[in-house]
Amino acid sequence: MIAIGTEAKMLVQHPRCARCRVNIEPGQALLMRDDGRLEHATCPEVTCPVCTRTILPQTPIRRDGDEMVHANCYSRRLRATHGAP
Ligand SMILES: [Zn+2]
Ligand SMILES: [Zn+2]
Repeated sequence: MIAIGTEAKMLVQHPRCARCRVNIEPGQALLMRDDGRLEHATCPEVTCPVCTRTILPQTPIRRDGDEMVHANCYSRRLRATHGAP
C-alpha cells in the first residue's frame, strides 16, 4: 500500500509536465506516470524562441524566465549578448 498524500503532494509541489516540462495549467488533461509524476495527456508543442524550432521532450533545455530555450541556443545567445559591443 502506498501512503495517501503522496499524489496530492506531487500535485501541489510541481505543476510541471514530466515529459515536455511545460507548466501544467488547471483543467488540462493529465496522466499519472508510474513514478508518480504528472504529464499531459497530450503535450503542447514548445518552440524555441531563439532558433524557432520545436523543443523535443528529450532535448536539454534552459529556462529564460517562463520561456523554454534549447540549452545550446541559450549558451549561444548568452555568448552573442556578451560578445556584442
Ligand atoms: Zn507535457
Ligand atoms: Zn533553439
